[in-house]
Amino acid sequence: MPTAAFTTLGCKVNQYETQKILESFEAQGFEIVPFDSPADVYVVNTCSVTQSAEAKSRQTIRRAARQNPNAIVVMTGCYAQFTLRRGETLAEAHLVVPNPDKLRTVEYVLEHFPHLKAQLEQARQRGETPVRRRSRAVLKIQDGCNIYCSFCSIPYTRPVMRSVPYQDVLEEARAMVADGYREIVLTGVLIGDYGAATGSGGPDLAELCAMLTAIEGLERLRISSIEPTQVTDHLIELTATNPKMCPHFHIPLQSGDSRVLKAMNRPYDQAFYLELIQRIRARIPNCAISTDIMVGFPGEDEAAFQNTCKVVEQVEFCRAHLFRYSPRPDTPAEAMRDQVPEPVKSERIQQLQQVAKAAARRYAARFIGTTERVLVESRSKLSGLMTGTSDHYLQVEFAASPSLAGQLVHVRITDLTPDGVLGELVALQ
Ligand code: SF4
Repeated sequence: MPTAAFTTLGCKVNQYETQKILESFEAQGFEIVPFDSPADVYVVNTCSVTQSAEAKSRQTIRRAARQNPNAIVVMTGCYAQFTLRRGETLAEAHLVVPNPDKLRTVEYVLEHFPHLKAQLEQARQRGETPVRRRSRAVLKIQDGCNIYCSFCSIPYTRPVMRSVPYQDVLEEARAMVADGYREIVLTGVLIGDYGAATGSGGPDLAELCAMLTAIEGLERLRISSIEPTQVTDHLIELTATNPKMCPHFHIPLQSGDSRVLKAMNRPYDQAFYLELIQRIRARIPNCAISTDIMVGFPGEDEAAFQNTCKVVEQVEFCRAHLFRYSPRPDTPAEAMRDQVPEPVKSERIQQLQQVAKAAARRYAARFIGTTERVLVESRSKLSGLMTGTSDHYLQVEFAASPSLAGQLVHVRITDLTPDGVLGELVALQ
């Protein structure tokens, strides 16, 4: 049967939409394979939040075309929409699906490439059904942002604040669990804004999490990204006491320098951020904290950059996504003076990568000798071992049967790997 592979650039909302696209391919009878495997169709859900995100989108499309020169490479998402608007083409992309139509990608593919439709029909006649492996599902509960960070165009494109009614969230979550997912990741543009004022029908984010964890069969709940000012004591307490809540918060830092944060129009300073992390870890020792950091924002001098490095060292983020600042059209930062030269940004990104990597290794080393609950995902092409994500967001590699994909298991952590940890399977859940 025809195979399809998917990858996402950019935010968790994009990930949620990729999952929806993937499910629609599966419903048509495509076998879903990892993106680094040969596939008949590659779908790249692109991002245009920065120039580097656009460059990565192009690189990913080219990589897909190289992996299987006979494959159909499909591009959708924000960068795809930009290329349509600007009349640009990318030779390696055989089909560009407009962003508003992305959830209909499979229809576009079958309409433009009828031979795939015929192959699916033949597979159906032979009685072949795709193997379905479920692990983590992304569930979007909120849309819109009204923070207006000076570098970001999202509040101009998604200004309406909207929470998905809690009954709909619960219904979708139950369907995901019935479909075999063990972990749900909640996502939205400004997820901490979830609440009655924007249409939830009652619960705020912590209350919604409590309702979700009561769903039988759901083993883990994770929050994708939450602004520092929106992490409430109730949410921390729930995470500390409810075993289904992953001890992990993704809290964007963006800069560790209070002056730069002010210029970014971020509503907190360095002291607030550090105090929040301290409060979380006082209640949840070893709580995983991941983050996003922007390097080279206008006015970021060496001292400001060093402040960011210091926060990274101090917090020991389990993972830090580093972005190079690039001006987005019609944002206040575009017109700011003191733009940082590109070579300086490159140097700082490299330096910060080293600092973040060392800090992440120190964080991971805390778990050597302990046992972590791991959701098994896939086999690593490099090591041949199975890989999965632990409650504390560690990437764990261990010897196990591929049939465990989608299961929760207990793994004793024995050592560090370049990007995570190594372990030994001790028990099934
Ligand atoms: S919080 Fe800031 S960066 Fe995030 S979507 Fe809103 S404006 Fe953009």
